[in-house]
Amino acid sequence: MSTPIQHSSTFAFPSLEAMDAAQALGPAGAYYQRIGHPTLRACEERLAALEEAEMGLLFPSGMAAISSAFLAHVQSGEHIVALHQTYGGTRALLEWGAERLGWTFDLVDAREPGTWERAFRANTRIFHVESPTNPTLCLVDLAHAASLAHRHRVLLTVDNTVASPLGQHPLAHGADLVMHSATKSIGGHGDLLAGAVLGAATRLEAVWRVRTVFGPVPDPGVAWQIERSLKTLPLRIAQANANALDLASRLATHPGVARVFYPGLPEHPGHEIALRQMRHGFGPLLAVEPRGGAGAAVAVVDALRVVRHAPSLGGVESLASLPARTSHIQLGEDGRRRAGIPEGLVRLSIGIEDVADLWADLDRALKLAAAVTV
Ligand SMILES: *Cc1c(COP(=O)(O)O)cnc(C)c1O
Repeated sequence: MSTPIQHSSTFAFPSLEAMDAAQALGPAGAYYQRIGHPTLRACEERLAALEEAEMGLLFPSGMAAISSAFLAHVQSGEHIVALHQTYGGTRALLEWGAERLGWTFDLVDAREPGTWERAFRANTRIFHVESPTNPTLCLVDLAHAASLAHRHRVLLTVDNTVASPLGQHPLAHGADLVMHSATKSIGGHGDLLAGAVLGAATRLEAVWRVRTVFGPVPDPGVAWQIERSLKTLPLRIAQANANALDLASRLATHPGVARVFYPGLPEHPGHEIALRQMRHGFGPLLAVEPRGGAGAAVAVVDALRVVRHAPSLGGVESLASLPARTSHIQLGEDGRRRAGIPEGLVRLSIGIEDVADLWADLDRALKLAAAVTV
């Protein structure tokens, strides 16, 4: 019932014929660990089934997954369209590629779909989006993004980390490649770093070549840990999403809160899209802007006790962070303003704890912050 961990960097064969056969299977074979290995394959197949993808490839981090997908499908002289709201690490990748590889990119605002098409050029190869975005939870209509991309013969790539592979199936809405930071909901326990790229085998072939050339392959121990985590993903997602919706609704009327960002709230501008394209709730991520600006945000994070102060998301334990000081520090104040990220924003990743404990902690921290900043 549990996939054996095969700690073997190489595999021995009784004949050349048997070796040829294993080699021909590529990432599905057992030939040499960098090509792919049985513990990893078991996990990749389970993850592909969850995401309803033909094929999946795992990587030792989300950024290894995203950068391998970009390297596989964008060459020097070609162009990428991405969002102003893109994850900071992906933004750094776009800039690194522009400096070192000679690709170019343009950013569009997730909140203004009418402006996206203007960014497309004859040499555009990828339209890269996230939905919901991190940390302000903008929703991208994936079917609309896909039809736009395909009209320009461009691939739609979707970073599905925030929704999780259960919470949303971008491939069903027309996406060509889906990426995950498996460090987040997939791993789910704050104890590993991993990433994934999923989609049709014809698109994954080039990504596998990049993985084989550069060598970012998760080891058998990590592959086993990720597969085990997948077995409880539905339970973790159900509890975290229910907790997040409950807390977002209550925070929306808290006197210490100026604004709540959560796609599960009817007043959220992306609520209709979320209802259409998200499943099993609206994700574990929400953001609050306490009254009193950046000073109050710092006071809230410092006062929280059950919710811990750490920069990640999608785990069993609730975490708070200040995007302006962690995940979106690379954007600078100007970039954050363009992306619509307030300086005094507190991002909350809701876990599976008793929601009454979480509410008591948030309520106490918000009241304390209000007292300090008045
Ligand atoms: C964390 C994260 C990444 C990067 O993943 P790592 O596993 O840290 O490399 C990419 N995209 C999103 C949306 C993330 O939250």
